[in-house]
Amino acid sequence: MAQMTRSTDLDGLIALGTARARSRRQSLTPLRTQVLAVLAAQSRPLGAYDIQRALSASKHMSPISIYRSLEFLMEIGLVHRLATQSAYVLLKRPPAENETLLCLVCRSCGEVDEVSSPAVGQTLGSTLAAASFTPASRLMEVEGDCSDCRRRMSLSHPG
Ligand SMILES: [Zn+2]
Repeated sequence: MAQMTRSTDLDGLIALGTARARSRRQSLTPLRTQVLAVLAAQSRPLGAYDIQRALSASKHMSPISIYRSLEFLMEIGLVHRLATQSAYVLLKRPPAENETLLCLVCRSCGEVDEVSSPAVGQTLGSTLAAASFTPASRLMEVEGDCSDCRRRMSLSHPG
């Protein structure tokens, strides 16, 4: 099911977000929690305006406050902004510090999956060290076709 909830463990995410916020002497405010919940309810990336629309059902939210919440959720590693789509996605499994994660973005259905890659992380680490460059994030996007879409394509174009 493509439309199912991205992560059913919202409570776990909130607990992790609260702990990571606290270690930065910040807090997971009600708005940050609401933005997290909106992203958790979707399996696809959402634009800031989609999030605003989902939240405006209850009360008006300014786009700037949505962006600030998204910035914070990215800073604590729970959300990733897809550079290829200008959209935000909840990370199914938030990466640990210094963990390298590949975000696999399906160009057909929009599903985003993540895989951890210690091998890529090691190569990236030594390459960046040689360039004296400190990365802001160790998330890399790879666009392509997911297994479901590939299967669908081979069914509609046999041979
Ligand atoms: Zn797909």
